[in-house]
Amino acid sequence: MTLPRRVVLGLPVLFFPAACKSPPRCASCGMVVDPTSRWFAEIEVQGKIQGFDTPKCALRYRLSKAPQGQVWVRSYYKQQRVPATAVLFLTGSDVLGPMGADLVPVEPELEPKFRTEHRAQQAYPLDKLTLPLVESI
Ligand SMILES: [Zn+2]
Repeated sequence: MTLPRRVVLGLPVLFFPAACKSPPRCASCGMVVDPTSRWFAEIEVQGKIQGFDTPKCALRYRLSKAPQGQVWVRSYYKQQRVPATAVLFLTGSDVLGPMGADLVPVEPELEPKFRTEHRAQQAYPLDKLTLPLVESI
């Protein structure tokens, strides 16, 4: 038995959307974004939230394309979703993100612990970060 020509031609159309659904990608570097990653970061602009694979990518995007955007990160120790204004970004440590060196969002009260454990060199609040600084990390 053969299927009618119309049915056979219709099958690929039914499966096409599922096969082509791709995971969200970082608007900064193009990597696949994993919302369960401890490095996951987000920017909220006018109620719309965009995901990024790392804090560095989110900060780069904000500083270059979305200066009014609210950045959200996962805090290093407690792994809580917090506004970027609630953490310090530590650099020069031995903690590497999925793309290498990154700005590690650390709870301010735990900055000394992080510096000791991971030999971080600098700590920056959000408002002290500039695009050249973020790009140099
Ligand atoms: Zn990225």
